[in-house]
Amino acid sequence: MLIEWIAGVQLLLYAIAWTVAARMVKEERVALGHWAAYAWLQGAGVFVTAPALAAGQMPPVAGLLASLLGFAAAVRGVDVFLGHGRARHDRWGAAVVLATVLALAVAALVVDDPVARRRWVGLPYGLGGATLLLSYALLCWPRLREGYGRVTVAVLVAPMALTGLFGVVSVLARGHLDGQDIARLQQASREPNIVVSLVMSGLFNFAYIFLLVGRLVGRLRDSARTDHLTGALNRRAIDATLHQAWHRQRRHGGGLAIALLDIDHFKRINDTWGHAAGDRALAWVAQVLGEGTRAYDTVGRWGGEEFVLVMADIGPEDVLRRCERLRRALATGSRDGCGVPITVSIGLAVCQPTDASVAALLERADRAMYAAKAAGRDRVVLSATTAEAALGVAEPGTGVGAREGA
Ligand code: GH3
Ligand code: MG
Ligand code: MG
Repeated sequence: MLIEWIAGVQLLLYAIAWTVAARMVKEERVALGHWAAYAWLQGAGVFVTAPALAAGQMPPVAGLLASLLGFAAAVRGVDVFLGHGRARHDRWGAAVVLATVLALAVAALVVDDPVARRRWVGLPYGLGGATLLLSYALLCWPRLREGYGRVTVAVLVAPMALTGLFGVVSVLARGHLDGQDIARLQQASREPNIVVSLVMSGLFNFAYIFLLVGRLVGRLRDSARTDHLTGALNRRAIDATLHQAWHRQRRHGGGLAIALLDIDHFKRINDTWGHAAGDRALAWVAQVLGEGTRAYDTVGRWGGEEFVLVMADIGPEDVLRRCERLRRALATGSRDGCGVPITVSIGLAVCQPTDASVAALLERADRAMYAAKAAGRDRVVLSATTAEAALGVAEPGTGVGAREGA
């Protein structure tokens, strides 16, 4: 019976680990709680059924029930995890569990003959467990595929599907054998069965650990890249984006523009309306910038009340028009949008063959932004390079596409 004890102890260790994890990772408490319940129930199932199995007898119905509910908790845990706390397939899961429990109860109560009991009690257990595992593997597949790589999904779904298939095969085998044969088969397959279940429960738990670690790492990566107040990319992420865009433009061409945007007299806004209002204004500006740019443009918080826009595959006229539209949207919508009147000064630079580095491009945008401030604020100024000057944009001081140094 040693091997059954090993399997049981292994499951109890998983149970303790998931219980501790559920307390530690509060955001995923519900899913982790389900996986703890799975391991507790299955561990209990192994301890309850082990003596009977070792003695070649029919395992007690309570042990089978614990194991079945354990599977139900495991698959619901995956469902809850993928639904960020909310299960999607509860009706289906409950129907399978209920039907299995009823069938188990009827078989246990009605069938007296110990030989026939082996078939009729074992059958609903195997069928119910297999249905749960296979159906949830199929139901969860699309959402898993969306959020995780192919290898991770295979590691996640394979144990569910394999354990389910194993259940189907054993049910089919039971259908073709008489009670005595089933008893002999059970005896012969006892140890291989336990070894398979040891490996499968190991895989189940590895799969859940992959899911959890994947989500936690993703969350860390997001928070390391995002500015908490505005939701825009932070300085570190926008630096990386800029360098990528720069190298892509160098290799493939296509145009790259950078806009540096600074809120005018923001200190005065804080002083007049309070820092909370200032914070709201910053968040609103980031929102307007996000909504007013294309999906493949990037909005970042450069620092303080300064933002940066990285726009690829765009020419000088388009980018100037876009920035002008943003400037106007911010100036006219701010009172309604965030409750305080704000205007912005935007310095714009379009990548030129003469730019030696991304720093040179940034420096031109920065100079253009200071030129916008010097010219009276609330305007877009295009960096003064020969190529950009060739655009023939409006005169400085109009607030529309003024040109630095013109
Ligand atoms: P200018 O038109 O020349 O840009 O004037 P300004 O007042 O906007 O520029 P200045 O650099 O003097 O002030 C920037 C202010 O931005 C000072 C600082 O208190 C405020 N600020 C920076 N970060 C935050 C923030 O996260 N929240 C709030 N509420 N204010 C911030
Ligand atoms: Mg500033
Ligand atoms: Mg400012």
